[in-house]
Amino acid sequence: MTIDIVIGIIALVVLFALEGRFAARTAQLDGRLRHGANNLGIALLSAAIGALVAPLLVASVGLAEARGWGLCHMADLGWIGCALLTFVLFDLWMYAWHRANHEVPFLWRFHRVHHTDPAMDSTTALRFHPGEILLSTLANCLVLMALGMSLGMLVLYKSLMVLVILLHHSNLAVPARLDQRLRLIIVPPSMHRVHHSERRAETDSNYGTVFSFWDRLFGSFRLRPDPSRIRFGIGRYAERTWQRPLQLLRLPLEPLTADPDQQTTGSVLKP
Ligand SMILES: [Zn+2]
Ligand SMILES: [Zn+2]
Repeated sequence: MTIDIVIGIIALVVLFALEGRFAARTAQLDGRLRHGANNLGIALLSAAIGALVAPLLVASVGLAEARGWGLCHMADLGWIGCALLTFVLFDLWMYAWHRANHEVPFLWRFHRVHHTDPAMDSTTALRFHPGEILLSTLANCLVLMALGMSLGMLVLYKSLMVLVILLHHSNLAVPARLDQRLRLIIVPPSMHRVHHSERRAETDSNYGTVFSFWDRLFGSFRLRPDPSRIRFGIGRYAERTWQRPLQLLRLPLEPLTADPDQQTTGSVLKP
């Protein structure tokens, strides 16, 4: 078990406990154990696939090192330069991959599993279809080789990433001023809650994973003036049956017909 997984488990337990006491949406507290169990169910299936294909990541890093492939091996950046650059560029890649998951219909089939949660909380951060994990791991192998990124840097990125994604999915009542300050650098709950809106125009925004500036830079930054009124999920998959892990597994096979709710646009605040 790598350090990012240990950090993730500890942070999830702490956040889940805090959500029970300082919830942004108290109505979501009813049934949150069952909700969390469903999300952990699909997360464990995805983790199993992730563990199976993890050796590919190690092999990609080893191959790039042996052959001198990638930015860090080809340019004389020094240890710190290389570490900083690969960290930022890997997060840019995460932005691009996430955006592709919304814009490429085949990828959206898998990624919408993450978006069908009508009661987003910290456990939603782990709700991914195993197919998405497989596809992202294969794509990550190419990016690691292109960057010449070390395994240590990947683990460091993932350790910070897991803290940020658990926080921005959480149902924690983060004070507005703190959220505003966090938003200068990282993606806070106010941004990611808009991303989980059932309105398509809002779902297709705020793709950032760690840093918030990619969305500002690429014109996908959105905020809602009334964040507490955002309805999460994808309307027609909000029923309880669609929240079960085995049902979520077959969601990619469902037709891509747009849900009527997803066609409307709401008022937004641009930076
Ligand atoms: Zn998304
Ligand atoms: Zn999310």
